Amino acid sequence: MKSKSPGVNTICTHVGELKDEQYKGAISPLYMSSSYAYENVDVKRYPRYFNTPNQEGLAKKVAALEHCEAGLIFGSGMAAISHTMLAFLRQGDHVVVQKTIYGGAYNFMVEELPKYGISFDFTDGFTETDFRNKIKPNTKVIYVETPSNPLMLITDLEMISRLAKEYRLVSMIDNTFATPINQTPADFGIDIMIHSATKYMGGHSDICAGAVAASEEHIKKIWNVGKNLGGSLSDYTVWLLERSMKTMGIRVKAHNRNARKIARWLNDHELVQKVYYPGLKEHPDHELAKKQMKGYTGMLSFELVSGVDPNKFMESLSMIKQSMSLAGVESTILSPAKTSHALLSAEERERQGISDGLLRFSIGIENKNDLIADLEHAFREVSKNRLQKSLV
Ligand SMILES: *Cc1c(COP(=O)(O)O)cnc(C)c1O
Repeated sequence: MKSKSPGVNTICTHVGELKDEQYKGAISPLYMSSSYAYENVDVKRYPRYFNTPNQEGLAKKVAALEHCEAGLIFGSGMAAISHTMLAFLRQGDHVVVQKTIYGGAYNFMVEELPKYGISFDFTDGFTETDFRNKIKPNTKVIYVETPSNPLMLITDLEMISRLAKEYRLVSMIDNTFATPINQTPADFGIDIMIHSATKYMGGHSDICAGAVAASEEHIKKIWNVGKNLGGSLSDYTVWLLERSMKTMGIRVKAHNRNARKIARWLNDHELVQKVYYPGLKEHPDHELAKKQMKGYTGMLSFELVSGVDPNKFMESLSMIKQSMSLAGVESTILSPAKTSHALLSAEERERQGISDGLLRFSIGIENKNDLIADLEHAFREVSKNRLQKSLV
């Protein structure tokens, strides 16, 4: 890290912006051109080569936020994950994957990697021994996601980077939930940071994009695969994402603040069995989270006490919407058992700690008191229901 690097909100606002030489406009001009003058072989610009002016500009911002040398912007979070994995794995290689990861990433490993002759093992848990146990002589990559979805468990980044060095593995993290505002894994020695920019980076539930940050050397390897697989992002969406990222620092801080207060409020509620939020002292990984995170994100999960119908609860909310995705400025909620983890067997869900009463809550930037009023109303509705049942 450079000692005089600008503050995080300044990076969000300015790093990588393009100068409007012609009209002196205040923001980056949007260059939609898919065809550029053939200057020389090194600067052949073409959208699929990840090197249009807007793509390069935004990649610099992501790299600066992640304390890395370079970055690449992708058409989706899954494009970022798949291109990065395929850049460091070839036939006969093996990858160690953290036990619970994003469903799409899980499907990519399980459905796609075997076609390339690449094998994988999921860890049994989150400890050093759990990871060490799965490393084989042909292991090349160690892949983690922290905080994890939906239970917000924390993986020790310093431990992962130590193992990666010991066994000469490339370490990769899906840093989507934390964002570089809350967690900069490069500071702990992690090699490659991957984002679904569809989430907090975009932040308004209207963009699908991905991003990667790493050393120049690693980015060059990913670029070599990327130009063949073709997962770059259209410049118009790059430009929208740049616009979104200007406010990422202040948005994420607002998400953090709301979530911390609501986590505590839910934790004290009689109809809540358990809250999973790394910012709570009661969370099993709170100390570790404190060590490696600057804030605890706007994501949490909570379990309703048994007998409370999770669907009835969600249907009784009015401002907080039921929605599949997450990390927008608006609050959303879903049942992992019915959505993201619906394809798993009931036994597998139980093994992963995902009960039918578990709800994943993406806390937006609305006023905290309005969110609490909405939750209170839903709790009143479900307790009416409970009361009636017990009278029957
Ligand atoms: C959404 C998400 C992804 C996938 O991103 P897409 O933009 O949907 O392709 C990957 N990881 C995490 C943690 C996510 O939440």
